Amino acid sequence: MTNLKYKCMMGGTCCHEIPGDYVKRIPIYPDEADKLIEIAKKREIEFKIIEDLIFPDIKNEKILVLTYRIRLDNESQGCPFYDKKRGCTVHNIKPLACQAYPLALKQIDAFNFEISIDPLCNFVINNYEELETVDLEKLKTIFQEEYPKAVIFYRKNKRIMFKIRELEVTNKISIPREISLDHFNDYLKIWDREEIRVK
Ligand code: SF4
Repeated sequence: MTNLKYKCMMGGTCCHEIPGDYVKRIPIYPDEADKLIEIAKKREIEFKIIEDLIFPDIKNEKILVLTYRIRLDNESQGCPFYDKKRGCTVHNIKPLACQAYPLALKQIDAFNFEISIDPLCNFVINNYEELETVDLEKLKTIFQEEYPKAVIFYRKNKRIMFKIRELEVTNKISIPREISLDHFNDYLKIWDREEIRVK
């Protein structure tokens, strides 16, 4: 049994762009985006999101939006809700991705994800050797508070994927398994968006 316990080192990595080629992703569901946009309006701060996980629906000629991500290409290179002294300022409505961090969802194929550890978190970097070999039981012990949040995050993702599959098998949508980048880029320019929402 390990004695290692996750402790946030307040590096702010989870809320900021990472220097280099890596694109930091803080995924948020449409309902989470709504709440954050509302708070940003009230606080009069600039908060931008960009489509993240999307599928083209060739039957209805629409882009299905499953998640967005918080845009970090601003002056602070970070989430506008992050405060240097206080950290996150939207604790009560923090997106699931933030609640679970440094646990994250890793996409393993078009429709499936698994719980993984973000290698860019400072705690993870400092304990990389031990974390590299952990099994599920150890993972639950080390990330005692974060693991249950990661499970909620994972289950919500699963519900979204089930909804997509259900729409497919009932012929309400059609998602191509192969598509050229040129076609996809064309669709992105002209098709309307439809958000896929689950509770
Ligand atoms: S919502 Fe809070 S925890 Fe999430 S990225 Fe923004 S400041 Fe960080």
